[in-house]
Amino acid sequence: MGALFSTLTWSAALAAAQVLAIPLVAQELPRVLVIATGGTIAGQATGGQLTGAQIVEAVPQLAEVARIEVEEFSRVGSSAITPDHWVRLSRRINEIFDTDPDLAGLIVTHGTDTLEETAYFLHLTVEDARPVVVVGSMRNSSAVSADGPANLLSGARVVLSPKAHERGVLVVLNDEIHSARDVRKMDNNRLNTFVSREWGMLGIVDADQIVFRRSPETRHTVSSDLHLLPGTTALPNVPVVADFAGNDARLLHAAHANGASAIVVQAFGGGRASPAVRDAYVEIVEAGVPVLLASRVPEGRVMGTPRGNEAGLVYAGDLSPHKARILLMLALQSPTSVAQLQRLIDRH
Ligand code: ASP
Repeated sequence: MGALFSTLTWSAALAAAQVLAIPLVAQELPRVLVIATGGTIAGQATGGQLTGAQIVEAVPQLAEVARIEVEEFSRVGSSAITPDHWVRLSRRINEIFDTDPDLAGLIVTHGTDTLEETAYFLHLTVEDARPVVVVGSMRNSSAVSADGPANLLSGARVVLSPKAHERGVLVVLNDEIHSARDVRKMDNNRLNTFVSREWGMLGIVDADQIVFRRSPETRHTVSSDLHLLPGTTALPNVPVVADFAGNDARLLHAAHANGASAIVVQAFGGGRASPAVRDAYVEIVEAGVPVLLASRVPEGRVMGTPRGNEAGLVYAGDLSPHKARILLMLALQSPTSVAQLQRLIDRH
């Protein structure tokens, strides 16, 4: 009888401890905020869009690693994301970090089509060292083997990795951790579409741990020289104009006539342009509008010359045309010399 009684007592005590332990563990888990913007990760076969809360509910394993909070920012495909979204999202993230010191970090769920732009904008303007991880998916939530849930769980695990601090904004899909600066969407359909071709991913999400092997060398977040100015309501107009064989440069002239603050030319290899585009951008820089020469070739730096800078040209280095555009939009919130624009490009 004694043995039976002691067994019952012991198991009851264990059960009580387990019940008590769960709330204690749950209360001790770090807090992670998910800000939902839309995209395929929220998409449904019916064409609808899940809410951020529904995306999170689909991943019960999240509750084992963090106390997840959710904020609905927008519910749009990322082809509809605009600079106004970037500004509002960055301001909201900085406000959250300013007012919530014990938040471990945050995840932004986003469509993949312009994910790299939003991520880079945040990389330059978030004023906190805590992790901001942008995740998306290539299959919608209804698909067989949807990748969104795994990407979201990976994103949370990366946020909670102590090594994720001070590495800038990170992009996590397909078990890979990329810097917002270097990553590009390189395949229209495949799960492994996000690639940092030239510099490589920063780390990997393994089943047992988060492994980092690289850190960004350029400035970002707390070391960034770019900031959203308090008075900014709309960012400067900086279009990207693609060059092509036989271009008569009418679109470049139109961009200038339309009041561009600067223009990014997506030129050929090395930043070389067609004759008509070259003649046009010489006129444009002479009129005092900076022209940044980028390349349609995904790897290798577009190298500049001091003479080119003196003439009003800025050179993209290894920044993609669309990311160089974002940097110029931020820099030109206030008057900035071409020499300073080049320094900002080279440092970020
Ligand atoms: N197919 C895109 C995605 O993967 C749609 C978007 O970017 O919103 O999210």
